[in-house]
Amino acid sequence: MKILLDVDGVLADFVTEACHYNDHDLHTDPDTGALTLMDSRGDEWPWPAGEYDIAGMMGFTACEFWHHLDYKNFWLGLRPYDHVSHLLTLLARTFGKKNICLLTTPALSEHCVPEKIQWIEKHLPDYAEQYLIGPAKEFCAHDDSLLIDDSDANVNKFRNAGGNALLFPQWWNTNWRHAHNRMRFIEATIKSWAPKGDTDAG
Ligand SMILES: [Mg+2]
Repeated sequence: MKILLDVDGVLADFVTEACHYNDHDLHTDPDTGALTLMDSRGDEWPWPAGEYDIAGMMGFTACEFWHHLDYKNFWLGLRPYDHVSHLLTLLARTFGKKNICLLTTPALSEHCVPEKIQWIEKHLPDYAEQYLIGPAKEFCAHDDSLLIDDSDANVNKFRNAGGNALLFPQWWNTNWRHAHNRMRFIEATIKSWAPKGDTDAG
């Protein structure tokens, strides 16, 4: 099986940095995974579970939100999530490293694509030749491919195009109940796609 692994929201913490660049702080409740937003005046409000519209929750239009991110080093500066090593080890052990490809949608900023490539080279050098950058993820869908992505929309499109998909638990998607123990959820869920027999495909 071919694994297509999303970057933003799965490997790279896009949301925290996107909030910072839009003058908001983000707090995570470690027990529930619940997110709280705080603006520059110190006003706080809860991020509704399953809500994907990050711009709207901060009171920005999509255009304003993306404009605030259009700076050099925004994309390169994204922090890898703590679970990255655990996730990649699990996937490589289950499916074989040669069957894993990063699949990430670029933003329109001129900095985005070159910095995404640099980010992969910096944080995931083992995958420096195993990535695809493009918005039409569903063109990779087939009955032997699995997309792991934090967007309900991407997951649904991929399934509708004939692929398999796993919605990576985050507070902003419909798997939010598993956000605080997402790797346990992934470990349990991935088994249904694991190859039978020798799983250490190398
Ligand atoms: Mg994503």
